[in-house]
Parts: sequence; C-alpha cells; structure tokens
Amino acid sequence: MRTVIANVTVLDGSGGPSRASDVWLDGERIDHLAAPGLSHGRATVVAGDGLVLAPGFIDVHSHADRSPFANEPDTTKLLQGITTEVVGNCGSSPLDADDHPTSYLTALDRARSVTNLAPLLGHGSLRRRVMGMAGRAPRAQEARTMRAWLEQSLDAGAFGLSSGLFYAPGSYADADELAALLEGLASRPLIYASHIRNEGSRLVEAVDEFLAVGRQTHTALQLSHHKAAGLPNWGRTAETLRHIHAARADGVVVAMDAYPYTASSTSVSANLPGWVLEGGVDAALERLAHPATRDRIRRECEDPALDSEWESMVAATGYDRMVVAWNPAGGTGQGQTLAQYARERHLSPFDGMVHLLQESRLAATMVAHSMDEGDLVRVLQDPECWIGTDGVLGSRSARPHPRLTGTFPRVWREFVVKRHLLAPEEAIRRMTGGPATHFSIPERGRVAPGWVADLVLMDPDRLADTSTFDQPWTPPEGVVGVWMAGRRAVADGRYLGTAMGRRLTPAR
Ligand SMILES: [Zn+2]
Repeated sequence: MRTVIANVTVLDGSGGPSRASDVWLDGERIDHLAAPGLSHGRATVVAGDGLVLAPGFIDVHSHADRSPFANEPDTTKLLQGITTEVVGNCGSSPLDADDHPTSYLTALDRARSVTNLAPLLGHGSLRRRVMGMAGRAPRAQEARTMRAWLEQSLDAGAFGLSSGLFYAPGSYADADELAALLEGLASRPLIYASHIRNEGSRLVEAVDEFLAVGRQTHTALQLSHHKAAGLPNWGRTAETLRHIHAARADGVVVAMDAYPYTASSTSVSANLPGWVLEGGVDAALERLAHPATRDRIRRECEDPALDSEWESMVAATGYDRMVVAWNPAGGTGQGQTLAQYARERHLSPFDGMVHLLQESRLAATMVAHSMDEGDLVRVLQDPECWIGTDGVLGSRSARPHPRLTGTFPRVWREFVVKRHLLAPEEAIRRMTGGPATHFSIPERGRVAPGWVADLVLMDPDRLADTSTFDQPWTPPEGVVGVWMAGRRAVADGRYLGTAMGRRLTPAR
C-alpha cells in the first residue's frame, strides 16, 4: 500500500536547503520524493498543507529505559515528534542482581515501546552488578568480567557504554578503569557517553578527563548534557568548548548534547558526597542518622574544601534554587524549594534536606536552577551539539522537569523561531541526521528514498512547548503527525494508541 504525504516542505535532516515535495511511502520506507501537483493515482493521500516534514526526532539522551515495561504507554517523547530514544544514559541501565546485561536487550524485544530504543550499557550499573557499591578499584577478575559483559552487550546490539562519574558507584572509577573497558573496541560502531565527574568547580578538568579517554581509546565520544552548573562556574563552557575543538582538531570524534533550559534535574541524594553512599541506601541512612558523621556531611556540602574534587551542588547552587520534584513519601514538599521545605519544618536547610532524604529513603528528586543562559546558547551553537531531553518518566504524581515533555518543540520555538540562533535546516539536522550518523543509528534520520519512514509533520509557526515547571505534563503544540516505519502514530497531536517502537541495533 502506497501513501503520499502531499505538498510538504521537506527538511531532510542533512542540513541542506528545504524543498517543496510530495513524499511517497511504500510500506516501511520512503519510496521517492516528487514535485508537488503530480497525480497520486490510487495512493492514500495525507494532505501536508505546506507544513514541514522532517525525519522523526532522535532524543540522544533519554532515561526512558523502563518505559516499555510501564502499564501506561509513555507518550511524552512521541508527542514531541521523537521517534527514537538513546537510553541507558548517565551510567545507569536496567541491570538487576542475577541478571546478565543482555537480558534487558532481549526483554526490550518482547516489550511494547512507543518509540524506537537505542540502548547503551551503563557503566555504573555494570560496576554495581559486579562489585556492589564498593568504593575501590576493580580487582583483576572483576575488571575482566566487566569487559566481557560489555563485549557481550555490544555483540547483542548495544550502541555503546555510558558512564555517570558524578554518581556513585561510577564516581569510584578512575579514567583508567573506563579506558581499560573501552580499549581496542574502536573498530566497531561504539559510543562512549558520559555524565562527567564534575559539571561545576572542576568542569574543565572533568571534560579533559573525558577527552583523554577518547584520545587513548579512539572511541567516539558523547558529552552528555553539557553545562556549567553553579553560579561561580557560569561562563566556563567557553573554555570547555576550546578544549573540545582542540581535541577534534587532533582527530578525537566528540559530540555533545543539551536541553533548552537553565535548570537541571537529578536525585536529591546527588547533593551528598560520594563516600556517604558507599555500601548502599541503608548504609547512607545510617551515616545521616549519626550526629558526628552528619555534621561532617553538612560541612562538606556547604563548605567543601577548596581542593575538593567533588562537586557540591549545595555550595554552588544553593538550597533556594533547588525545587522538590518528586517525593515518594506522599508527595510532600513537591514544588517547594529545599529552603522552603526546611523552613516549614523549622529546620535548617541542611537538616530539611536530610529529613527529605530520610522520608523518601534517598529516592526524592529535584529540579536545580543552576545554569546560565549564556552557557546554554554557547553549547547549542556547537555544530555537533545534538538535543537530548534527559527526561525520566517517573511517577505521574511528580512534578518533573518540563524537559520531559517539551524539549524538542522548545528548541524550535526559542532558538529557531524567536531568537534565530539556529537555521531551521540546521536545527532539524541536530535533531535527526547528525545524531543518527554519530550514534550509528541505522537507516533513520533522513527523508530520502530507501530510508525508514520515521517522520514528523509539524506546523513551523505553531510548534512549541506548553509545559512549565509548575505544569510539566502538558504536551506540545504543532506536532501534526508522526509516522513510525510508515505507519501513523500521531494525528493532530494525539497518540493513536499503537506502540510501534522497536529495539534498534547499530549500523555495521
Ligand atoms: Zn546525567
């Protein structure tokens, strides 16, 4: 059965100029592009009305690892025009005790996913599976096991390795541990993505550490959600970008991603020094309950030693710029700053934060208004900055960061339409063809004959996010249609109810 999406303005994902076309689909694939106005014969015709047709967007930094297993379909990405998500980021991928890393990949094949998924193996999850929450270097046998499981994951179709060196237990690993894992694998399609060790006071050193792994192992790099976090560190992306450009000049393949907001989001426990989390949740709660230890934690949070390698978000951003996003203990405090949450309980800000950590058993999350617009704009202007939501679905009763539902339309509205910082063709390339090539995502990311028909039809004048920090769940406007492998998945901004996503494997 042939379908023609008639009279559209094609932005094909290559960055090349737009052109008016009819786009013919044959089954799962794009058959050909034709000049508008020719006969459509007996094909099914979808009126494009001059709107923009682009490849389905690729979210290179998603945390929707478990969305295919949720009771409700996760449409937060599809309704933005996203058809493929890279999951397993920040060192974290589903890997339960007793499981082999490849069992997640086979489980995805049986699951019902709304979008296509391109999974990475999380180094932190791998390390925890092999070594527990041990705060030391791996022993020889442990290192061999991690390496063997990484290779088996790649053989089974993982797109690469992610690390979260800011989070325990990834933070217990040094650069040599990562390099040893990746050494000698560069001949295959493989990404090393990293939430680097420090995005604040030691940002430049952490970027250098990351680039060094690429220089040593020749692995293609993805610098996750690049930012300068914390008020004293604003402006530092000027220096990191200089270092990245120098590495590129030396042949290092390095791209990055960003989301179009000046707030980040993570677990509240990320405010604690890494040693507090050693041994797991119960050990951490015990430390927080012990008066002298708790006092030491407070000092390190609020006044870290100048030579500290640890990134204290409390010191750099402050309790009054961190907002409770999710508290599994009944939702108390959601929408309040940590400062307000503490004040309401007649506690000091630190004691309030500890109270929240205790009542949520470390599971509470927050939004941190930690970034500067200037850094965001600078990062987004790098020609190899892709777009990533960093979104995690979580509980429907939470107040997540609006990036979960608004990222891609917001890039269009803010940086293409309002501020003219990105040309339309270039913005679409950053969302589609650019990342598809970098991540070796096969047959997707272009509107061209023979490519898989993952497509988005959008109204360029209306495309916009509507979600906010107070109302994070509202879907975007202006996404007229989405196709997954030639089948309509979204019409007029509404999900049509059939999960058509697949697990992808890298192009060879
Ligand atoms: Zn991260």
